[in-house]
Amino acid sequence: MRDKMKLKIGIYGLTSCYGCQLRMASIKDILEVSKNFDIVCWKMMSSKGEIEPCDIAFVEGSVTTEKDEEEVKMIREKSKVVVAMGSCAIHGGVQGSLFGEDYKKIFKEVYGENSIYYKARIGEPLKKYIKVDYNLPGCPPEENELVYYLATFGIGSYPEEKDYPVCAECRRNGYPCVLIEKNESCLGSLTVAGCNARCLAHNVACIGCRGPLPHNVAWFDSLALTFKDKKIDKEAIKKRMEIFGKQSGKIDEIVEKVFR
Ligand code: SF4
Ligand code: SF4
Ligand code: SF4
Repeated sequence: MRDKMKLKIGIYGLTSCYGCQLRMASIKDILEVSKNFDIVCWKMMSSKGEIEPCDIAFVEGSVTTEKDEEEVKMIREKSKVVVAMGSCAIHGGVQGSLFGEDYKKIFKEVYGENSIYYKARIGEPLKKYIKVDYNLPGCPPEENELVYYLATFGIGSYPEEKDYPVCAECRRNGYPCVLIEKNESCLGSLTVAGCNARCLAHNVACIGCRGPLPHNVAWFDSLALTFKDKKIDKEAIKKRMEIFGKQSGKIDEIVEKVFR
């Protein structure tokens, strides 16, 4: 009787490193957690891997081939809710950072005269092809956020996306500021929080792997002064933000606001 009440979950991967699915698989209590759901498809964990009707689809990876496009549209058709999981699915990811450049030219530089049998293109985020209901950021997402998304869906609620920057987590942890102290172009102030300032814990500047903030923050003016004071220019910040989030649609807007 209880099984009929379980949410049906699909976990899918388009073109990607499969790191988000691996992160999902390595949740500490995944076997316990998964008992609460009926997992109808999990591409990485099953040789069957067919797209099945489900309540929630978690999709990682970017649309990089014609097959990806067909798959993501089918996933949308068969799922009540679609979650873009990870930077590739949300913003196109690293493989989407070449968006706007000539695919054939880049292909030739990498593969020479070799050819491939499927129709490929530079990676694009899910939102360019289908309606996405929720974004679960990260490269890959953090375990606690994955569990939070599963748990909120599991109780019939919905997850709230964070709207504050990595700086907030960095300050809360009391890490030294690499921007102020080492003149490094840290993107923590422009990147959506959730990783608990993972890189700053190791004194390494944030490169924005979780993607740009969804909203502006109050300290953009003082941030611009700090960047200028440190001789970090607009183009350098933009280029860095584009590594993971080129197709977010927010980068130009944020950078212009910071450096206006
Ligand atoms: S978001 Fe990162 S971890 Fe996830 S599939 Fe893309 S590259 Fe891999
Ligand atoms: S700029 Fe970087 S180092 Fe400084 S507070 Fe923000 S996240 Fe931390
Ligand atoms: S600190 Fe920045 S680069 Fe490091 S995990 Fe967090 S968002 Fe990604």
